Amino acid sequence: MLRGNCSLSQIRNIVEDSKKILIVSHYNPDGDAIGSSLALCAFLNKLSKDCSVYNRDEIPNYLNFLSATGFYTSIDLLPTDFDLLIIVDLNDFERTGPDMQNYIDLNFINTEKPIIVIDHHENNKINDANLYIDTKACSTGVLIFRLIKEFQGLIDSYIATCLLTTIITDTASFKNSNSNEEAFLISHELVKSGGDLQSINKKIFETGDIKKLALRTKIYSTLRFEKKIKSAICYSTNSFYAETHTSKEDSEGIANSLINYSDVELGIFIREIEPQKWKASLRGNNHYNLSDFASKFGGGGHRNASGFMFSGDLESLIEKIILELKDEQNTNR
Ligand code: 5GP
Ligand code: MN
Repeated sequence: MLRGNCSLSQIRNIVEDSKKILIVSHYNPDGDAIGSSLALCAFLNKLSKDCSVYNRDEIPNYLNFLSATGFYTSIDLLPTDFDLLIIVDLNDFERTGPDMQNYIDLNFINTEKPIIVIDHHENNKINDANLYIDTKACSTGVLIFRLIKEFQGLIDSYIATCLLTTIITDTASFKNSNSNEEAFLISHELVKSGGDLQSINKKIFETGDIKKLALRTKIYSTLRFEKKIKSAICYSTNSFYAETHTSKEDSEGIANSLINYSDVELGIFIREIEPQKWKASLRGNNHYNLSDFASKFGGGGHRNASGFMFSGDLESLIEKIILELKDEQNTNR
């Protein structure tokens, strides 16, 4: 069996040799994880493959315009006897969640059934699989598009909307520096194929209701600006959500919003997951390598967008981040 980096035609061969396929993306899914999974599933169904999609978490409300069938959030409910696993938009089995990580060990690694990874993140941590990774691709959806083209497959309006969602999400509507020529070329074709750009932009970027503003007011009131390292940091605790009757989805995009200010090169938003457990989201303007920076905390991502989890108290996390950034600033001087 093949292992390591593969060409599209090798990926195609592996897919053609299988009948029952499981597609898995990362927990806390975003538009790229969901859009890539659903587009791939819809395409493989057209090839008469029996396909299921797993994510540890439900599809977030703001993505519910991408209707899904064969979508599972519980391993107990999953069909059995898959002969191929396709991982999308992640490069570390840990990012599938503990249950799925166990499931992959038992059902694929131990049995030597094939695994394909289709991804665009840096610092790949998966070796035991057939890899199709391109860190220059703006979204994983772009790689799914390339795979469909390898099959000379047709892109219907549903697949087009799923794939366009991946590009709009990961480029922040062509504002991020990953908005390359391919992003525009493929988007052009996806719009021609019926991709519903207006719905996508409306759903993904609509401001939401006024409760969200109340939440954001609380979050921005925690703002700390560190001029030397050009970093803006803010956080939310679970009480913020409870008091404003909002949920974690209502704080999406906070880190991104911070780098719109001219003196901020790095925006950091830290969200409480449970007492003493925090999720940091980092967004940058090319000043720091945020993939490398998040790695220092056991996380990962891209040069300008990354994240990690942290156990401990908030103050020590913030102090640690600031110290590391000052260190980095000094080394680069
Ligand atoms: P977000 O802040 O939107 O959750 O994530 C930004 C980017 O960093 C995404 O590409 C995501 O896959 C990556 N990322 C976020 N959290 C983690 C993490 O805990 N571990 C790793 N390896 N990557 C992460
Ligand atoms: Mn992505």
